[in-house]
Amino acid sequence: MLTSRIRHRERRLSILPGFAIVAAVVGLTMAACSAVSAQNEPPATSTSTAKSDRPSKGGSSTGAAPTHKGPPNAEDGVLPDHTSAFDTDLPGIAKLDPALRKAVQEAETAMQADGIRMQVTTGWRSRKYQEELLQKAIVKYGSRKKALEYVADPSKSHHITGHAVDIGPTAADDWLQRKGNRYGLCRTYTNEIWHFELATTPGGTCPPMTDPTR
Ligand SMILES: [Zn+2]
Repeated sequence: MLTSRIRHRERRLSILPGFAIVAAVVGLTMAACSAVSAQNEPPATSTSTAKSDRPSKGGSSTGAAPTHKGPPNAEDGVLPDHTSAFDTDLPGIAKLDPALRKAVQEAETAMQADGIRMQVTTGWRSRKYQEELLQKAIVKYGSRKKALEYVADPSKSHHITGHAVDIGPTAADDWLQRKGNRYGLCRTYTNEIWHFELATTPGGTCPPMTDPTR
């Protein structure tokens, strides 16, 4: 935990794309926590957003929607900025397939040795979270058909089962695309440079990418 905090602090100094995300997390936290104690805690730290006195769903990867009302929050897999694959106190990391999480942790460590700091922008996602993303895309793109080119249907998203991660920034995506196969990690979609799955054996060859819009 100590090293995790140090890592976070270092990253705060060196990475700055998170202003909007932090603002969003703050907004989500405030909107979602009408009944929960988290309101009094600093909203932008990963530990505080993850902690909840609500019983866990048992760590299953079913994507079952939490019972809370309001917009998706940490319990749905929303991750704060600078989330590391080692932040296992966050549901979005904790509910990943263990083999995938281990591979991403190994890649993160190796990447850091190469001078690149990665963050997990999305790991596991609840069905509620995925449905909300799709609904927003439908509004944005005008039709469900068009929206599905950008956001997976909840029944098809590999995030809901904990078998996919979205990684940033671009330098980390580039590193993973070149070296991720050492850990079994592969970019699987032609249209998403940030989306990786455990798709080969360590050191193996990644399968051809697919176009999810077809
Ligand atoms: Zn993804």
